[in-house]
Amino acid sequence: MFTFKDYSEILSKLKELFEFSSFTEFSDKGKVYLRHDIDVFIENTLMLAKVENELNIKSTYMFMTEGEFYNILSRSSEKLITTLKDMGHYVGLHLDMRFVDNSDALQTKDYIMRSFEFFSKYLPLDPVVSFHRPNVKVLKDLELPGIVNVYHRRFFEGIRYFSDSKMRNFVPQLLESLKNDDKTSIQLLVHPLWWDHVEYNILTSVDRYLEMKKQFLRRNFREEMNVFKDLIDSRFFGDMEEIK
Ligand SMILES: [Zn+2]
Repeated sequence: MFTFKDYSEILSKLKELFEFSSFTEFSDKGKVYLRHDIDVFIENTLMLAKVENELNIKSTYMFMTEGEFYNILSRSSEKLITTLKDMGHYVGLHLDMRFVDNSDALQTKDYIMRSFEFFSKYLPLDPVVSFHRPNVKVLKDLELPGIVNVYHRRFFEGIRYFSDSKMRNFVPQLLESLKNDDKTSIQLLVHPLWWDHVEYNILTSVDRYLEMKKQFLRRNFREEMNVFKDLIDSRFFGDMEEIK
């Protein structure tokens, strides 16, 4: 479980029975709403998108606006978002509800509307939002003018919901559910952090992420320092491990 091959197999199975849909076209029958909350591992996003594209499946990628792990407005994020859109996927915002009093519906709504308005000036967003650490009680009844709230009760109570949160293997439960019901729509949440070519567990998947991030920062750091090349120890531009 949690290899790209496993991912492709689950999607193929669902594709036999359902249409993969944008959240903007709600139906409680016959659809899969495949959603990715990109909390941490933005670098893995394109890998999932490629698996989906091989199967001609569309999904919705939700980017964090105020996370500590990546910058949604960086050039590389912008390029990624454009690529996803060109591939036919949908792109929305994943808003961190820790930054607002999310027991207060008015304040929550205001925060969401302001965030969406701001980021849609810079990015080609679809009108759809999901939430990090949400207060589900408030969100399930929250109506947002012109924007789809994927925590609205129609996407949870009206249809089925499965998720790989905390690296939980949702597949047996999903397959069991399909045996009894191959009509009711499904919302499926998949986080890029858990998936790869080979299988990891929760700890090794985090180690792999940190190692990848280290390489990425090192590359960027070298590029950044290149203008001072003449002033800096040449070992810096070789293998940085040599610097003690
Ligand atoms: Zn999240």
